[in-house]
Amino acid sequence: MGPVGEVLKDAPLECGACNKCCRKNPGIFLIPEHGDDPGLYEGHLDVIDGRPILKTKSNGDCIYLDLEKGCTNYNNRPNVCRIYDCRSDYMQWLAKPRTERRAMMKSGLLNQSVQKEGRQRLKAVLSRNASTIAAD
Ligand code: SF4
Ligand code: SF4
Repeated sequence: MGPVGEVLKDAPLECGACNKCCRKNPGIFLIPEHGDDPGLYEGHLDVIDGRPILKTKSNGDCIYLDLEKGCTNYNNRPNVCRIYDCRSDYMQWLAKPRTERRAMMKSGLLNQSVQKEGRQRLKAVLSRNASTIAAD
């Protein structure tokens, strides 16, 4: 882990009412090997390639997202929702070769509003920790 990764580790992500990664995404796959229990989401799952995935609304938002209240299944949210960090995701995307980054943009699978959120939040952490990173 590089100096930026170390800084992020000590800067907990406070999502607040953002919810951008719960919106307009292709769906959240459940990963039973990582502790997800499909039984908790009965009636709210599809299966793609044999893998359970949370249903999405017609606008692409997660079936559990309420725009005013946030996640309506917060205590049982899947593992990926618990660990996802848009700042790290943006950093990883940035580290890829330009051609790969372009292909990802074109594929439409990259949620640009999440990327933007990750970039802004990463910048904020980096500016708060500029001296730590420079000294590394
Ligand atoms: S986009 Fe980032 S800040 Fe917003 S909810 Fe997702 S992880 Fe949290
Ligand atoms: S389960 Fe909750 S946290 Fe996860 S994508 Fe859906 S609304 Fe967001």
